[in-house]
Order: sequence, then structure tokens, then C-alpha cells
Amino acid sequence: MSDPAVNAKPSTHEHIVIIGAGAAGLTAGIYTARANLSPLIIAGLQPGGQMTITTDVENYPGFAEVIQGPWLMTEMQTQAENVGVRVMYDIVTGLDSTSRPFRLTLDSGQDITADAVILATGAQARWLGLDSEMQFNGRGVSACATCDGFFYKGRDVAVIGGGNTAVEEALYLANICNSVTLVHRRDSLRAEQIMQDRLFKKDNISVEWNRQVAEVLGDDTGVTGLRLAATDGADDKSISVHGMFVAIGHDPATAAFAGAVALDEEGYIKAAPGTTRTSVSGIFAAGDCVDKIYRQAVTAAGMGCMAALDAERWLGEQNS
Ligand code: NAP
Repeated sequence: MSDPAVNAKPSTHEHIVIIGAGAAGLTAGIYTARANLSPLIIAGLQPGGQMTITTDVENYPGFAEVIQGPWLMTEMQTQAENVGVRVMYDIVTGLDSTSRPFRLTLDSGQDITADAVILATGAQARWLGLDSEMQFNGRGVSACATCDGFFYKGRDVAVIGGGNTAVEEALYLANICNSVTLVHRRDSLRAEQIMQDRLFKKDNISVEWNRQVAEVLGDDTGVTGLRLAATDGADDKSISVHGMFVAIGHDPATAAFAGAVALDEEGYIKAAPGTTRTSVSGIFAAGDCVDKIYRQAVTAAGMGCMAALDAERWLGEQNS
């Protein structure tokens, strides 16, 4: 585990600071530590990232048997610390990208300066906000079909949402599950036409138009169904499913960096194609705070490695 003293006596100046301790940030830490850059990771609100709220993980390469998401992230952090990463538990509330070195403001009131910064703050799935959704989270309610879909093999599931993610999740699940019901609050999808065409071709996908989930139904075994309210004045109805996949969008955790680096219209950090370079030289970004397409632990880890190599090269250039 981390040295609690790091919280008490942090350095005021760092060579490189990594913000976020999910798969991207920890991998960036491992690589920068092994490159002798003495990185400091500031862990933020959810050390371990989104993997800490998943249970069984079967798609992270290197593990023949099912592993647990929280366990994987603990291992990753221990691995990082074993190669010299220091982890500090605080929240970055501001980044001044105009000063050199960069200046980070922390929730504790402290300031840290850094020659280079890697942003790896991740993203969070949006939820519907129902009490019953919370109650069955991890027991039939999920926000990631690629993570959890396999556990519903041959069963009936529902996907909530009408965008590209919802359609992608429905198509993915249709190859695994007995049936998929897409529940959408309007009478037309937001997803691209080509995705819709694929969706409508699938025999085992049906759509509940103009419906919102009013309640997740279940018992000790987990989810058993959904009560759907109508958005067009029709009566409520219930459907029988064992899984509900919420796919109503993700929010990147980038609010603290607005104005410091360029964000796109959805708040994701903009990076130069094929690199982790942000709009500000010396600030790099990796993982779900920059990637809205792949959003996997393994791709976040890969981008963390890229950011470390980009930062290492950039720091080397500054000294030459
Ligand atoms: P999105 O495009 O914002 O779609 C969110 C969907 O969820 C919308 O259909 C929305 O309904 C619905 N929704 C939002 N809040 C809801 C609520 N409280 N209750 C019920 N439904 C709700 O999000 P996304 O699908 O995650 O996509 C995000 C971005 O990533 C998009 O730019 C998308 O194109 C991109 N993306 C691209 C790919 C790809 O290119 N392969 C794959 C996935 C995502 P309304 O339609 O009524 O607003």
C-alpha cells in the first residue's frame, strides 16, 4: 500500500504528475517509474477507476481464470508502487497550463508544480438514477456489455438508450443472449443509420419505443424484469429480463481541466491523432477521459503506456 506520509509531506515540485489511478494512470506510472522519472500519481475520487465497480473480469489478457475488477486494480497499484510510483490521495481541482512548470491545485488546498502532466481521470457511465437500479447494480444491472454480457449467455436482457453505444451494446449482446429488448424514450434512435440497419436486421432484438424504465424488478437471485413507463401516455408494462444494460452515455471526468487543455463538445480531452499529446505541449492524456470509442481497461492501459512514452520523449527533448 502507499506510504501515508506522501499525503502529509508531498513535494511541491515534481518532474511528472499523473492525475488518475485507473488502468491508464497506473500504467503510465509503471512506465514512467521504470524510465526513472519518479512519477507522482494523484489518485482522485475513485482510485482504481471504473474497474473497481465491476465484479468478474474475463477479458483482461493474462489471466486464464476469472478475476475480480477491484483485485486487478489493487495488483496494478501494488505493481506501480513496487517500481517506485508514489500515490497521493487528493483531488486535483485546477490545472494552470499557462505557467511553466504547470501548476496543479488540490482539494486539500495544496499546490504542486510539475514539468509534465498526464491526465488520466477516466469517465463515468451515466445512470438512470432509480433506487431499484442502485439496488441491483452488479446483480443484473450493468453499464458495460463487453464486461458483463457473457454472464447473461442464453438469457433475456434489456439495453436502455438510443445512441450508438446502446445499439452497439444491443448488437454485442444479441450474439450472446437469447433476446435483447432495446428500451428507448423516443420513437426514433439517435444512433447512426448504419448501426440502426444492423440492429433492425437482428431477429432476436426488439425495441420498446417511447418507454422509460420506471423500476427494476427483482428478488434474491437478482433482476427478474423491468417496469416500463410510457412517454406517450400509454399504460405501464412489465417485461421479463435477467439483465439491464444502461447505455445512456458517459461523462468524462474533465471539468477541472476546462480552459487548461482543449476539450471537444462532449468534454473529452482532444489528443493529436495517434498520440496522447493534448493541445498543450507537455500535457498528455490517456484512457477514458480522451477515448469515447473503445473504453476498455486494456485500451486505457495501452494509452497509459503511450502517454508515458510520449511524456518521456518530450521531457528528454526539453533537456537536450
Ligand atoms: P449519446 O449519443 O449521448 O446517446 C445517449 C442515449 O441515451 C440517447 O438516445 C438518449 O436519448 C438516451 N438517454 C440519455 N439520458 C437518458 C435517460 N435519463 N433516460 C433514458 N434515455 C436516456 O451517448 P452514446 O451512445 O454513449 O454515445 C456517445 C458518443 O460516442 C456519441 O458521439 C457517439 O456517436 C459516440 N460513439 C461512437 C461509436 C462508434 O462510432 N462506433 C460507438 C459508441 C459511441 P435521446 O436520444 O432521447 O436523447
